[in-house]
Amino acid sequence: MYKQNLHTHTCYCDGKNTPEEVIRAAREQGFDSIGFSGHSFTAYAQQFCMQPDQTIAYKEHIRRLQAELSEEFPIFCGLEFDMYSDTPLEGYDYVIGSVHYLKKDGQIWGFDRSQQEVADMIDQAFGGDGMAFAKCYYETLAQLPEYGTFDILGHPDILCKHSENVAFFDEESKTYRHAVSEALEALRGKIPLFEVNTGAIPRGYRTTPYPSPYLLDEFKRLGFGAVVTSDCHDCRYLDHSFTQAYALLKEHGFREIYSLTKNGFVAQPLE
Ligand SMILES: [Zn+2]
Ligand SMILES: [Zn+2]
Repeated sequence: MYKQNLHTHTCYCDGKNTPEEVIRAAREQGFDSIGFSGHSFTAYAQQFCMQPDQTIAYKEHIRRLQAELSEEFPIFCGLEFDMYSDTPLEGYDYVIGSVHYLKKDGQIWGFDRSQQEVADMIDQAFGGDGMAFAKCYYETLAQLPEYGTFDILGHPDILCKHSENVAFFDEESKTYRHAVSEALEALRGKIPLFEVNTGAIPRGYRTTPYPSPYLLDEFKRLGFGAVVTSDCHDCRYLDHSFTQAYALLKEHGFREIYSLTKNGFVAQPLE
């Protein structure tokens, strides 16, 4: 199968490796191509993103490597755009749209760094009501297409990153599932692809990829296409749990996954 990872961070944002190190690891791990997706500049949380000047340097760097290796190893220059970022979206081969922050009562809240961060946010922003957080997340996600044109919906249920051992909300409940379905229906036809993202597994946050089985069934029902990514921040884990992700997609009725080529996204059979 054509092996590709389109969700890759480098030392330009919060990843550990240089683009060269990532490319070397990708070739060693048998990848056919790689896409870089630095975090867009977020003025409200500057620790993990690319500053505006770094964004320019990142693009130039990836484009230079792309030109140098064009015949040998295809490279794509992408961006992981946070919904509230105001980084321009032009000049990339593809864009992943993600929600990492919520706006509540005029304040911005992050929720993907630690379990404590989630617990504190639920207490302070949602009066201790975890389901209110979940509903706010999906209502926010549904608005993503108003902020740009995206190829891939990033980690669709990242709100569950820290809830494998703590029940912040009941994922099996009707209320939760209704919030999921409403959001995915709003996104249908506007963002063509979603990712099965294994990134939380090597980092010890989760034992299974995003999204959860219910979301996978909904993506299938609504006709979204799938890509498999590792949301890589450390190139040792570039293909971590890809086998699990492929199997999961097959279990939920997917027969193909998408890869980016010089001619755009193409489907290939899931073997
Ligand atoms: Zn992300
Ligand atoms: Zn990412």
